[in-house]
Amino acid sequence: HESRTVPNRGSKKGGVGRVPVGVGRRRLRIVVTGGAGFVGSHLVDKLLARGDDVIVIDNFFTGRKENVMHHFGDPKFELIRHDVVEPILLEVDHIYHLACPASPVHYKYNPVKTIISLLNYKTNVMGTLNMLGLTKRIGARFLLTSTSEVYGDPLEHPQKETYWGHVNPIGVRSCYDEGKRTAETLTMDYHRGAGVEVRIARIFNTYGPRMCLDDGRVVSNFVAQAIRKQPLTVYGDGNQTRSFQYVSDLVDGLMALMGSEHIGPFNLGNPGEFTMLELAQVVKETIDTSARIEFKPNTDDDPHKRKPDISKARELLNWEPKISLREGLPLMVSDFQNRILNENEGKGN
Ligand code: NAD
Ligand code: UDP
Ligand code: UDP
Repeated sequence: HESRTVPNRGSKKGGVGRVPVGVGRRRLRIVVTGGAGFVGSHLVDKLLARGDDVIVIDNFFTGRKENVMHHFGDPKFELIRHDVVEPILLEVDHIYHLACPASPVHYKYNPVKTIISLLNYKTNVMGTLNMLGLTKRIGARFLLTSTSEVYGDPLEHPQKETYWGHVNPIGVRSCYDEGKRTAETLTMDYHRGAGVEVRIARIFNTYGPRMCLDDGRVVSNFVAQAIRKQPLTVYGDGNQTRSFQYVSDLVDGLMALMGSEHIGPFNLGNPGEFTMLELAQVVKETIDTSARIEFKPNTDDDPHKRKPDISKARELLNWEPKISLREGLPLMVSDFQNRILNENEGKGN
């Protein structure tokens, strides 16, 4: 079936485009760092379904083997337990670099947060450097998953890619914001200095099945709380806003960006903006209308609002999210219910 050669839209270099496939496109070898995590595992599903070979690199800091276990035994799939802070030698066409200790609870509330922040820097700086060095050596293409957090507590609303951001360099969440800002800088330096083919995505709040259950993010918190019959914890007055994107829309955006001729950065997010109180209301309507709300103090430096301007991705990538919050939330409920049930059964044993 590997016969037809098709013009290779995406590649300028030798790294991409060696193996022709019969489905209108070459079969690629793809690395996904952080591929055992929430977003990464959904990306892996879609890349494998498209017919590509996928190597996941993950140290399981926040990811789980269960997220990719359904691919064990598939010859197109490989899982390497490895910390991207250490160098690695591989020969591939595309590298999606997602590895990052991303969950807020791990940097906001963890009692060993200096260590967590160190992990963050190591992964974002040394990990990104290693992946860029690898990409340079083999002439592949590299995609960085950056974040809307690079905009900090934004003074521009909605945020365009041209906005440089409003970040507190010494705040409690700075390790994440500044780590990703440095990763973006390194990515552009390797592009300009060494001609490495790069792509940068700035991801806005994303939710869906396989999110960490207790990672402290608002959607996973509310959904888990509603299922466990606990009150939904709204931080501050609940009038701060976020824009929530369903994970399949993000995966489509990441793949469109990797396949395109554009470097970015591109905002990938759903422009539908909600206050935390509105989100709590949608969760109640979806899971349990009798759920109560409990107000808790907010953390320092919490961004007041966040909403992507996605005109650039619409125009250049022909991409936009398709799934609204009301459509997407129900799609994660059974996954959360099953995992919470297993957790409870585990405790009973
Ligand atoms: P996640 O925590 O589920 O996934 C991150 C994965 O990286 C995990 O599997 C973790 O074990 C792995 N990892 C961490 N450090 C590593 C290291 N040093 N070496 C190897 N693997 C390592 O988080 P996610 O939500 O899937 O996020 C994926 C990417 O998208 C991250 O880069 C994150 O910053 C970015 N992002 C996510 C969101 C969101 O709302 N989910 C928003 C903005 C940006
Ligand atoms: N690197 C890697 N795999 C490779 C090539 C490089 O992990 O296949 C790492 C390498 O160990 C180095 C980093 O990427 O720490 C940056 O590599 P580069 O060649 O850009 O810089 P140099 O090695 O010259 O410092
Ligand atoms: N938040 C909340 N209750 C929770 C967890 C978070 O009200 O149980 C708020 C948090 O203060 C922030 C928003 O929800 O204003 C989004 O938080 P999250 O950590 O999910 O994402 P980020 O702040 O990184 O956008």
